[in-house]
Amino acid sequence: MSIADNLKKYKSEVESDGVKLIAVSKTQPIESILEAYNAGQRIFGENHVQEMVDKEAQLPKDIEWHLIGHLQSNKVKYIAAFVKLIHGVDSLKLLQEINKQAAKNKRVIDCLLQVYIADEDTKFGLGFDEVIELLRAEELAELKNIRIVGLMGIATNTKNEKQITTEFNELKVFFEGVKVSFFRKDDAFKEISTGMSADYKIAIEKGSTMVRIGSSIFGKRVIKHFKNDISAN
Ligand SMILES: *Cc1c(COP(=O)(O)O)cnc(C)c1O
Repeated sequence: MSIADNLKKYKSEVESDGVKLIAVSKTQPIESILEAYNAGQRIFGENHVQEMVDKEAQLPKDIEWHLIGHLQSNKVKYIAAFVKLIHGVDSLKLLQEINKQAAKNKRVIDCLLQVYIADEDTKFGLGFDEVIELLRAEELAELKNIRIVGLMGIATNTKNEKQITTEFNELKVFFEGVKVSFFRKDDAFKEISTGMSADYKIAIEKGSTMVRIGSSIFGKRVIKHFKNDISAN
């Protein structure tokens, strides 16, 4: 099937469940993104800053760009003018930098806290206790140019559906607790970003509000079109 056909299939499937589709276009060329765009897609996810900046400059301005990968503080400035949602926020320091750059651009930038749910070694994401600690931090109240709108998680890369189900379920239960404790009066805190090509169905069953689907729409990622990310300076 073509990218346009895939896109339409996934978009109608997930949207019929009231879930947003993030088309993950990392490593995909401009033409492929345009094909999805012309088939009706407006939300695209990238995981490298330089790549997202390059693509944003070349593509229609009504695209919503979501940064789904790990973000280093020193790169926030490159995307602060246009990024719609940052999925992978995992420290107060990063939130403070996003706030600073958002203020410079006279914007409020929406963020998700990335929660560590997988049974894997990874440097990224916050433990449940660390999320609570961050939300209790006094400094958080001072950040007027960021808005925490929900949580993001990546399940273990396994064929064991029971394990994936458990992990997404734990995140959902945790989300409900956080909502009641910290965001009871804040309608904006409502997003759960879970689910990729392999596990989006389970994610939706377990309360996902946005799924991040790449290879099922665009095909396997083969060539890396953008080599170097912006170096730290
Ligand atoms: C690459 C990526 C995806 C999409 O993965 P697919 O398996 O291609 O659907 C989703 N989320 C994150 C954080 C990613 O880096």
